[in-house]
Amino acid sequence: MTRTTLLILGASGDLTSRLLLPALAQLLERQPELELDLVGAGTDDWSTERWRAVVRDAFETMRRGSGAHRIADTTYARADVTRADDLRRLIEPVDGALVVYFALPPAVAEEACEAMRDIELPEETVLALEKPFGGDEDSARRLNALLQTLVPEERIFRVDHFLGRATLLKLLGVRFANRAIEPVWSAEHVASVLVRFDETLGLENRARYYDHAGAMDDMLQSHLLQVLAVLAMEPPATLDERDLRDAKAQALRATRLWRDDPATSSRRARYTAGRIDGRELPAYVDEPGVDAVRETETLAEIVCEVRTARWAGVPFTLRSGKALGESRAEIVVTFAPVRHLPSGLSGTPRDGGILRFGLGPETMSLELNVNGGEDGLFALERETLRIEPGDEELYAYTEVLGEILERDVTISVRADSAERCWRIVEPVRRAWERGEVPLEEYRAGSAGPQDWASSQV
Ligand code: NDP
Repeated sequence: MTRTTLLILGASGDLTSRLLLPALAQLLERQPELELDLVGAGTDDWSTERWRAVVRDAFETMRRGSGAHRIADTTYARADVTRADDLRRLIEPVDGALVVYFALPPAVAEEACEAMRDIELPEETVLALEKPFGGDEDSARRLNALLQTLVPEERIFRVDHFLGRATLLKLLGVRFANRAIEPVWSAEHVASVLVRFDETLGLENRARYYDHAGAMDDMLQSHLLQVLAVLAMEPPATLDERDLRDAKAQALRATRLWRDDPATSSRRARYTAGRIDGRELPAYVDEPGVDAVRETETLAEIVCEVRTARWAGVPFTLRSGKALGESRAEIVVTFAPVRHLPSGLSGTPRDGGILRFGLGPETMSLELNVNGGEDGLFALERETLRIEPGDEELYAYTEVLGEILERDVTISVRADSAERCWRIVEPVRRAWERGEVPLEEYRAGSAGPQDWASSQV
C-alpha cells in the first residue's frame, strides 16, 4: 500500500478527539501494513506537542497505545482552512497519496472546498466530508457540484458512520442469507418498522452546531434514512459499491412521508429540566448557547412509506432524541399477526413476532410466541432468542476510516442519495416552520411524550 497522508481539518474538534483518533488507533492495530502520516490542522494556536498529547490520549482511551508509535511524528499546523494560502501550505508538501478529512462545521467545510478550487491537489486525492451534506436539497446539490469539480465522485466520501456500524453491515447477511427471513421481508408479513436512536446525553456543549440542526437534521435526515435504505432496498446482485448504492438509492427514491402529509406524519418535542442517571439536567432552552426562539427540537419522529411492491402500506417510523431516560438504538421489525390461530391455543398474540437489531451494542433478538410454559401447555407466552455481540465490536469509525484509506466507497453516501434524503424531509421542516405541528415537551429522563406510540414500544 502506498504511503498516505491523512490530513484532518478541524483537529481540535470533538469529532477528531472522540471518534476519529480512537478509530485510527483500532485501525492501526488491525492493519499493521498501513503506512500513514497524520497531520492535524485547525485555527487553534496549538503546538505540535499539544496535538501529539491529544493523539496519545485518544489512543490510550482505546487501550491501543501500541499503534501510537507509528504516527508518533504527527504534526499540527495552525491554519484557517477557508483560505487558499493556508490550505496550499498544508497540501503542497504532501508526497504520496492524500486523504483530506473535513472534521469541520458544515458551513466551514463548504468554504474550505471553495478555497480548494484554487489549489492543485495531488493526483488521487480523496475528500472525506461529514454529514450534514448541505442544509437542504439545493445546497446539497451545489455542494456536490462543487466537490465534483475538485475530484471525481469515486474519490468523494460522504461519511455516515451509521453505514459503518457492524449491525447494519451484518444486516446484509441476516436479510439475504436466511430462508427463514428473506421471504418474509415484505408488506405481506411485516406490519411495521421502527428505527430508533434515543440518547440519554443532553446537549453536551454542542449548541453551536445542534441548535441550528435539531434532531431532524442531525439524525433522521442523515443516519436514520440510511438505515431505512438498507432495510428496505431490494436485494442487490452483488455487494460491490455500484450495486449496493444503486439499491439503496432506489429505496430512497421510493420513500415518501406517510400519506404525503407532513402535518400528520411528523412530531417534534423539546426537553424540559429533569434527572438522568442521578444527574440534574437543565431544560434545553436554558443550556448555554441555545436560542429559544429557534424552537429547535430535541426529539423528532417521522413516519415514511417506501412505495414499492415490496413495502407499500408498511409504516417505517424514524425517531431520535436527546436527554431521554434510556439509551436505545435499535431497529424493530414487527411481523403481522398470523391469519389464523388454531382454537385450543389460548391467548391473542399482538403480533407475529419481533426481530430487533441493536445499533450498539450490536445485539440481535427474535421475540416469538411460544406455548408450553408456566401458564399451561397450550397457553401462548413470549420468549426471546438473543445473539450477543462478540468480544470486540468493530468501531463504526474504524470501518469508515479503513474504507476511506482503501478508497472503497461502498459505505459512503452517494451524491444522489445525499440530495434525496433532504427531499424526503424538507416538507416536514416547512410544515414545522408554518406551525402545523406543535412543538411538544418531555421531561429530561422520561421516555418522551407519553402519547407517542414510539415512547411506549
Ligand atoms: P467542533 O465544533 O467540535 O469542531 C470543529 C473544528 O473545526 C474545531 O477544531 C474548529 O476549530 C475547527 N474550525 C472551525 N473553523 C475553522 C477554520 N476556518 N479553519 C480551521 N479549522 C476550523 O465540531 P465537531 O467536531 O463536533 O463536528 C465536526 C463535523 O463532524 C460536523 O459536520 C458534525 O456534524 C460532524 N459529526 C460530529 C460528530 C460528533 O459527535 N462530534 C458525530 C458525527 C458527525 P476552532 O474551535 O479553533 O474554531
